[in-house]
Amino acid sequence: MEPLRSRIGGLAGCNQHRYEPSPHATGGRMARPIIPVVDRFMQYVSPEPNSGCWLWTAAIFSDGYGGFHMQVDGTTKRLGAHRAAWTLFRGPIGTLMVLHRCDQPTCVNPDHLFLGNQQANMTDMALKMRGKRSKRGLPRGVFIQRTSNPLAAFGAAACYRGSHVYAGSFSTPNEAHAAAELLRARLYEEPTK
Ligand SMILES: [Zn+2]
Repeated sequence: MEPLRSRIGGLAGCNQHRYEPSPHATGGRMARPIIPVVDRFMQYVSPEPNSGCWLWTAAIFSDGYGGFHMQVDGTTKRLGAHRAAWTLFRGPIGTLMVLHRCDQPTCVNPDHLFLGNQQANMTDMALKMRGKRSKRGLPRGVFIQRTSNPLAAFGAAACYRGSHVYAGSFSTPNEAHAAAELLRARLYEEPTK
């Protein structure tokens, strides 16, 4: 005879799968309530009274920016929430980048955003970090790469035994800094015996 526990467990699992309607079974695009995209966007915004920032309360990407799904040119895309804000409240971004006037990557207040190219982005980043970090305004182990690819704007490296060990390319100095520090830790942790 089967132990009671396993029979109960089996039954519970079975019931759950048999009777709980799958979220996909009756859903689908047509069945969802239609909420205007701006309203849907604003559901995730929490205004910060002191700074005036609109803080993003939904998904945050690993790079510190919010994420939002919306239709762009007929297809649903996952945009950075600040890019979605610009598109919804200001208009098309084109090939430019959406940059922050405030120092809050999760802010989506269109009044705190501006359009700029990659050079403007790097200058802006460097200015925001000036004083806190190195002379060049970048964290330890981070350097600006000569590239037109915004996803590879910042290189990461660690100095080890007199040579530079490369840790990859990143779109933000913070990501590059994290990678550089991780590499440093790994290199210096290596057993020497
Ligand atoms: Zn802001």
